[in-house]
Amino acid sequence: MSAILRMSRVYAPTLKEDPSDADIASAKLLVRAGMIRKEAAGLYTFMPLGMRVLHKIQRIIREEMDSHGGQEVFMPFVQNADLWRESGRWDVYGEEMLRLTDRHENEFCLGPTHEEVITDLVKNELRSYKELPQNLYQIQLKFRDERRPRFGLLRSREFIMKDAYSFDADQEGLDESYLQMREAYSNMFSRMGFEYRIVQADSGEIGGSGSEEFMALAETGECQLVYCDCGYAADTEIGACTPAPVEYPAESLTRIETPGVHTIAELAEFLGCEEAATAKAFSGVGNDGTIWVLFVPGNYEVNEAKAKGIIPGFRPLTDEEMVEAKLVKGSMGPVGLPAGVKVAADTSLQAISRWVVGANVDGFHYTGAKLGEDFRVDAWADLCVAKVGDPCPVCGKPTQGARGIEVGQIFKLGTKYSESMGATFMGEDGKEKPFIMGCYGVGVSRTLAAAVEQSHDENGIVWPVPIAPAHVCVIPLVVKDDLVQPAAEDIARELDALGLEVAIDDRKERAGVKFADADLIGWPVQVVVGKRGLEAGTVEVKVRRTGEKMDIPREELSRVVDLLK
Ligand code: ATP
Ligand code: MG
Repeated sequence: MSAILRMSRVYAPTLKEDPSDADIASAKLLVRAGMIRKEAAGLYTFMPLGMRVLHKIQRIIREEMDSHGGQEVFMPFVQNADLWRESGRWDVYGEEMLRLTDRHENEFCLGPTHEEVITDLVKNELRSYKELPQNLYQIQLKFRDERRPRFGLLRSREFIMKDAYSFDADQEGLDESYLQMREAYSNMFSRMGFEYRIVQADSGEIGGSGSEEFMALAETGECQLVYCDCGYAADTEIGACTPAPVEYPAESLTRIETPGVHTIAELAEFLGCEEAATAKAFSGVGNDGTIWVLFVPGNYEVNEAKAKGIIPGFRPLTDEEMVEAKLVKGSMGPVGLPAGVKVAADTSLQAISRWVVGANVDGFHYTGAKLGEDFRVDAWADLCVAKVGDPCPVCGKPTQGARGIEVGQIFKLGTKYSESMGATFMGEDGKEKPFIMGCYGVGVSRTLAAAVEQSHDENGIVWPVPIAPAHVCVIPLVVKDDLVQPAAEDIARELDALGLEVAIDDRKERAGVKFADADLIGWPVQVVVGKRGLEAGTVEVKVRRTGEKMDIPREELSRVVDLLK
């Protein structure tokens, strides 16, 4: 028999006020409900009630991983720098990696991810195609020294991740391993009660041939998604774009004075044209130091993630760097750029023969700048951020929009790590081959917070039943009397015997305090035991999600089970 949770003994200090440094509902409510505490920026403690939720999430994850071919391992959190040198990532990972040195002057890092450690683990020991496939996973801490830790557990520095790595002999094997994980993830997020979407993702910096993200839908999500009824869904950073720029009528290259015009909106108004008839400029620099100016139709934004695809290491120029490079903010154009500056443009602009652009002089623009004559373009690519309402790249219907929290991501890695670290196996043909790898991550602590983002109201958290800290909280309206208190204890025991997880709020608090805390903590069902009800032979039951209240005859207590379905 499971233990009944006695709230008089549970360490769960609740707060009436929002913590002043919490910036998002989940961060406020999890702290107020006594489930987590912030230790320092991006560092959190899970308290007993928070742990209960965490354990439930982890149990569901483990069940789905285990039934889809995963085997649990536990790797070190502190990782040897030499492994990262082997893969070539020690020098490129950047400032998110926290590095340390031990007493013997050996270098280490706090693991931001575990590709290197797992590849090293199988290297030399997983030897034959006969032993493949393998899928190893762990639930572990990660540390990423995020530039801006924020949104509580959603973007912390130390966080819990479930990470899995698959090893296959060939591409078909990887495709199958990937599908298994896709199904495991779909099952786990459904079982946790999430409303989520699977979106196409950038496999960008990790490299590889395919990737999808699992997005919990929530207004506060950091990701803007576009999706379509046909099944297409993508992050706007990734989503393919097919803008339809408009030709501005101009016969020849004409320099016009545009005093005070610095934005596309101002330019379009000045010329009396649509924004789509102008070209928007954006400057940046790549790893090799080359400065680029990127152009997209005026009604779109430049997509830095896509720019990285054609310009390795692309980042925007700072204002000072722009001045240094003799670029004129608000008036950049492809005609007469300083020597050495390269031009990239969105493919859609190929359809426009004469562009409306900045003149590289403050207060002046060109109309009629002719592609191929007045200027040339060094690189063409899809460079726009997708917009809600754009035609769906699959079926052409206008896309819809939603915001999402990335709770998981699955990747087909290929041979990036097995090749660089020399992890090979003996193929059926007797030849040594690098493993074909996949990697699969779930943000476990982020998932907990995402559940709260998706499911709360002004009074507190509304836990989905499968991950609630307990199913039902029994609330005696008075304690230490000889009627209500013993009856509440009996009811708690009866509910427990029905197989439910039960808490009883046996604290010496006023009824109002208990009601407020029960709503705040978010137990799916509250059973209120009072003198008047007992005399009439009933208890009052409240369903947290709907707020619905009903009197249930004592002998029909098993109806609570149905309310939890
Ligand atoms: P993001 O784009 O949000 O920074 P990521 O794509 O870098 O995340 P992955 O490397 O894909 O993250 O890690 C797997 C999962 O770990 C993510 O899907 C996310 O749920 C979780 N995660 C990543 N960074 C954090 C963080 N700072 N705090 C909490 N969870 C995180
Ligand atoms: Mg990711």
